[in-house]
Amino acid sequence: MRWFLAILWFCLTNCLLFAQGQADLILIKAKFWTASSGLPSVEAVAVKGNRIAAVGSDAEILRWRGDKTMLLELPGRLVVPGFIDNHTHFLDGGFQLRSVDLRPARNEKELAERLRQRAETLAAGQWITGGRWDHEAWPGAKLPTRELIDAVTPKTPVFVSRLDGHMGLANSLALRLAGITRTTPDPDGGIIVRDPETGEPTGILKDAAQALVSRLIPSAPRQEEDEALRAAMNEAARFGVTSVQDITPWSAFETFRRAQDRNQLTVRITARTPLSAWEKQAEWIRKHSAGDDWLRLGGFKAFMDGSLGSTTAYFFEPYLDDPKTSGLLASEAIPESKMFNRMLAADKASLQLSIHAIGDRANHMLLDLFEAVAKRNGPRDRRFRIEHAQHLRREDISRFARLGVIPSMQPYHCIDDGRWAEKRIGPERIKTTYAFRSLLDEGARLTFGSDWTVAPINPLLGVYAAVTRRTLDDRNPLGWVPEEKITVEEAMKSYTIDNAYASFDESSKGSLETGKLADLVVLDRDIFTIPPVRIPQASVLYTIVGGKIVYRATPRK
Ligand SMILES: [Zn+2]
Repeated sequence: MRWFLAILWFCLTNCLLFAQGQADLILIKAKFWTASSGLPSVEAVAVKGNRIAAVGSDAEILRWRGDKTMLLELPGRLVVPGFIDNHTHFLDGGFQLRSVDLRPARNEKELAERLRQRAETLAAGQWITGGRWDHEAWPGAKLPTRELIDAVTPKTPVFVSRLDGHMGLANSLALRLAGITRTTPDPDGGIIVRDPETGEPTGILKDAAQALVSRLIPSAPRQEEDEALRAAMNEAARFGVTSVQDITPWSAFETFRRAQDRNQLTVRITARTPLSAWEKQAEWIRKHSAGDDWLRLGGFKAFMDGSLGSTTAYFFEPYLDDPKTSGLLASEAIPESKMFNRMLAADKASLQLSIHAIGDRANHMLLDLFEAVAKRNGPRDRRFRIEHAQHLRREDISRFARLGVIPSMQPYHCIDDGRWAEKRIGPERIKTTYAFRSLLDEGARLTFGSDWTVAPINPLLGVYAAVTRRTLDDRNPLGWVPEEKITVEEAMKSYTIDNAYASFDESSKGSLETGKLADLVVLDRDIFTIPPVRIPQASVLYTIVGGKIVYRATPRK
């Protein structure tokens, strides 16, 4: 009897092995953080095709090994689910990598010098765009003006953005081409900044006023767009980002589709197109489909207000350093009924809404709008999202969980804005700024990302920012508003499984579990045990998307 059982056991296990086949890839001897609380500790992972075939003990996983299996032995390393970024401007990011970089400019002179150098490489009439300057990093923090750059760009139209994209600097040539003079009125939701003495435009255009110039800028040829996408995908892979929830103009969606048709995507993209043209997405889905695991249309993005850095985020109280204003509603939120009707219609078509709100009043209004839409259209699993949710009134924090609204936040902004936010909004309002801890404690599903190109795409910088809240100027070594710090584990969940939830993908990605897409990242060290201040020094060794290695660090010599 015993030998019979032994043979039976032998047959069963081997038949099983035969049925399960060989893994293409096995990761072993590392520490694994699965993002799934239900799993016992995992010692190894087997990947077959584009999926995770099994997770388990070394012995269990080694049974998947065959002669064609690639074995990655990773002692001392940490394996985590691929990072998901909840908010990117992905194609812009690729263009920015290839364009003039104004962010490192430490003063106005350096800004002009970088533009001079760039202009020298261009034919007359070719635009300089992008840039991402930050006047808050300069002595005096004054806004730049066209006079500063006119002399070095006489034949080059310039329209370069502040890093948050909520204002731009045009030179005189660009203003002339756009026909902007002292008599041009401010458009709804925008400001043409003027010299207080002469009334002449200074070159700074805020929010909706930017369109007066940006509509003149010719779109890039296809080939440049394809190259920008490639650069962006390389950047994502280098930092372990395997999925992005993108803010996608339709032209970028075309670029993504071209890459998909050629089988060139190495990052998964959920594309959110403008709410103002919501019918177009609904129509597209009806005709084709929403998409697949690589590229999918995932609802809409709209704006309630501007940004803190551009003094256009919409608050209940005025700005301290500019008491004439409390910020601006975005043009698409004027009047509010315009926004409401679009939200109502898009929601009725069962499509997801993500809406940008930064100031406390914009957030309050948006929560009201979400509540009204849900009431009108009836119960549904809709997962409304507020992009940024940066400044909240205390009494609004609990509404996120109650209404099922996802705070879609970008923690790097916290350590960036934290350098100067207090001078703008004062000591009281900063207490509920980037309220990570309070949102979690109130039961909200907090999600994280970068807002690349506004901030670097590197998720480890985001984890570091949320956990330490140390501002970039290092003036807050114990954390800026330290009550709102969260743990490494909480921040990692916001970058993985909770982000998957935010795009309705929690059953296919966001954690290391059998059957999920094989999106994994190998880090060179265990970020759960090192001091959090050292998290930015950790680096990615491998990025694996759909079972394929899309990035491998070059070994140090
Ligand atoms: Zn953004």
